[in-house]
Amino acid sequence: MVAEPRDRPLKGDVVDAAEWLRELLAREGPMPLSRFMALALLAPGRGYYATRDPLGAHGDFLTAPEISQCFGELIGAALAQAWLERGAPAPVLLVELGPGRGTLLVDLLRATARVRGFHAALSLHLVEASAALRAVQAERLRSFAPHFHDRLEDVPEGPPLLLVANEFLDALPIRQLVRTHDGWRERLVAVDAKGRIGFLLSPWTVADPCGGNEYPVGTVLELAPAREALVAEAARRVVRTGGLALFIDYAKPGPEGDTLQAVHGHRRVDPFSQPGRVDLSARVDFTALVRAARREGAAVFGPIAQGLFLERLGIKLRLARLLAGKSAELAARLERGVHRLIDPEAMGTLFKVLALSRPDEPIPPGFLASERVP
Ligand code: SAH
Repeated sequence: MVAEPRDRPLKGDVVDAAEWLRELLAREGPMPLSRFMALALLAPGRGYYATRDPLGAHGDFLTAPEISQCFGELIGAALAQAWLERGAPAPVLLVELGPGRGTLLVDLLRATARVRGFHAALSLHLVEASAALRAVQAERLRSFAPHFHDRLEDVPEGPPLLLVANEFLDALPIRQLVRTHDGWRERLVAVDAKGRIGFLLSPWTVADPCGGNEYPVGTVLELAPAREALVAEAARRVVRTGGLALFIDYAKPGPEGDTLQAVHGHRRVDPFSQPGRVDLSARVDFTALVRAARREGAAVFGPIAQGLFLERLGIKLRLARLLAGKSAELAARLERGVHRLIDPEAMGTLFKVLALSRPDEPIPPGFLASERVP
């Protein structure tokens, strides 16, 4: 997600999540960062996502589908092409993980309306933990009668699957381990006597998390068992039923590095200053996810840069079509949006795309055979 200077009044603070978390930490003691993230983001009635719609210019951050309609349109083109190449199976499950305001799906469905038989074959499944966002999605996607689920495991299994997840994995909880002189220690979240929330290093060392790789003292490693389990489940389904899964996220090159970030009103803030009121996320280590998907027998492609992926799918042509007949002002806005998605200085290279498919099925649109992980 992209932070930029801006502010706005706080919304959804009916229950003070920060106070609740402080009391919980005082009562129950320190907790791993992963549990803190899960509670601060999703605790029913209190968590950040549970209580608000955080997206858009008036929210806390902007995502690719909110920046340009071309994003959802091209994901739609890619999924519809994959569907055609697989013999246009009916029914087919269209699954989005963490659909936010539903914008990607609105654009995807509009762009694929004329793909013969596609909409008639679709059954739409949204995996969304936030009651607030479910309400927005239900309203915007009403005519497609979406089914809602808490977890991917709850989506019915059988028909082939077309799955997309944009900026979903970065919201799943991570653990952080720190290399000390005598081993790796978990970072816990704790509250001190003055009510300040912060990190506390566990007094226990944990088993070597990195297969004997030597890291200097002070290194922070991020592990994300929840992301690995999720990607493994997507891979298992794609292998069993056929189809395609696309994961798009803000990437990091490996597990090293502290990338926990908190954003509020388009600005970066201290992750512990206002838990429950700020977005928490961490960059995605795709190498761990590639391993998880390969273990399930999936064909894994990428990750490749978002800009490259969108250019291969024809984003420049799509933009040129969109610009025809538009006012100078609107044209400039549309161009700025596309530029932001593909420019290496903006989201073009930091964001990466990973595709999973069944080994006997065609290469995912936007990828080359040589980009398959051997
Ligand atoms: N994909 C959207 C929104 C990204 S924000 C976009 O690109 O605009 C992250 C989304 O994931 C939100 O909809 C949030 O409510 C949802 N989410 C976060 N953690 C989740 C979890 N553990 N299970 C289900 N949904 C989750």
